[in-house]
Amino acid sequence: MALRIIVHEPDPVLHQVAKEVTKLTPNIHKLLNDMADTMYHAEGVGLAAPQIGILKRVIVVDVGDEHGLIEMINPVILKAEGEQLGPEGCLSIPGLNGDVRRHQHITVQGLDRHGNTFTVEASDFLARAFQHEIDHLNGILFTEIAESVYEVPREGRKAE
Ligand SMILES: [Zn+2]
Repeated sequence: MALRIIVHEPDPVLHQVAKEVTKLTPNIHKLLNDMADTMYHAEGVGLAAPQIGILKRVIVVDVGDEHGLIEMINPVILKAEGEQLGPEGCLSIPGLNGDVRRHQHITVQGLDRHGNTFTVEASDFLARAFQHEIDHLNGILFTEIAESVYEVPREGRKAE
């Protein structure tokens, strides 16, 4: 198990666009392992590589549902439907939550660690987590798109 340091606002790396992964090297496997370890250790439900200072299009998500841990490289939203407005937090912005409007259902496609393309149909909170993480890959933080932002105690809120 290897933990990486989660970077916080206002680190400029959080505002940059991450690059596509073109080669699935052992380094990418290690990155995925470390990202999952770091996410679980921080009690988050998702983590994007830029949050540990790596500008690659890699995310991990686990919202505690039947999907379990999802590792996705170069994720792309193929289809988006509906709308939901709900609270969101971020491991890179401790102490703040915001109400963010997101799609209710999405179809997201990417690569697994072996280079196989796979698709996830995500709804509700899982769809929210994916959209939040993919925003990170584009240098967008929830505080930039939230309809309202408010302070919360650090304990007891899900963070991405
Ligand atoms: Zn986040």
